Amino acid sequence: MAADARAEAPTRLVALLGDPVAHSRSPAIHDAAFRALGLPFVYVACRVARGDLPAAVAGLAALGAAGANVTLPHKEAAAALVDRLTPAATATRAVNTLVPLAGGGWEGDNTDVAGFLDPLAPHRAALTGAETVVLGAGGAARAVAYALLTALAPARVTIAARTPARAERLAADLAAFDPGGALAVVPFDEAAPAVRRAALAVNATPVGLPPHTDVTPWPDATDFRPGQLVYDLVYAPGETRLLRDAAARGARTLDGRAMLLAQAAAAFARWTGHAMPLDAARAAL
Ligand code: NAP
Repeated sequence: MAADARAEAPTRLVALLGDPVAHSRSPAIHDAAFRALGLPFVYVACRVARGDLPAAVAGLAALGAAGANVTLPHKEAAAALVDRLTPAATATRAVNTLVPLAGGGWEGDNTDVAGFLDPLAPHRAALTGAETVVLGAGGAARAVAYALLTALAPARVTIAARTPARAERLAADLAAFDPGGALAVVPFDEAAPAVRRAALAVNATPVGLPPHTDVTPWPDATDFRPGQLVYDLVYAPGETRLLRDAAARGARTLDGRAMLLAQAAAAFARWTGHAMPLDAARAAL
């Protein structure tokens, strides 16, 4: 868009609602993408305390916002606030993206599902029908398990959980998407056989986040092997110790930055109707 057209167009607001939000890379990613396309949008990170989410979402509607991202601790609460949920948000019971509906109100989406699958595209044929393991049973693990069940027809999705009751709830909530009974829950410290068998191992715990970048959720690196793909959702700057260990054992690796960009791109497309300019977004990240 030319500079004079940009000056004439009303500025559209996109907000990030969470607590904390100061560390978020989303404003840098989205603002770089808006600028690269000359779109008159701004992305503002807003710290919203737990009980204030309904007022914040109502305020965004009153301001005519073009959309929002929702992050911790509001993802589940947002699912209960919106007027419509996408299938991904329904299945995961978590909303990370708000999109205004034409007649008023909001649709809640969960772009972590598409964001997780996007970097797997080149590996899809090899992973279809394969054994998989997910470390962790939180919100990200829910998106991962749903994505695996609906996109890859896996032979097994083993959820390795420090708190098995949480993983059992996850499995019960996703049972409708698991007609073949692929989901299994094992205590975290009994997951070694599943990790060794898995064609895809996913870290959906926060272990390895800065400043603890030399800590790994899976200390026994001998469980990794060639032919395996190890995918760390943690988006630390550079490679995490988990990925360094897996690569040293001959496994292929994927880091969390690709997912971070892909989930942002999915939200960006919904708000603006444009594909995210990935080079600009990646440079900002
Ligand atoms: P969450 O809801 O807090 O869940 C974290 C899970 O990890 C829980 O099941 C927790 O177990 C488990 N866990 C934590 N520490 C552990 C340890 N030392 N050993 C074994 N299990 C442990 O968090 P989340 O929202 O799912 O996020 C998880 C990670 O994914 C974060 O690092 C987040 O940044 C990342 N993420 C990345 C992207 C991306 O775009 N790349 C998107 C979403 C999330 P308990 O239930 O026992 O507490």
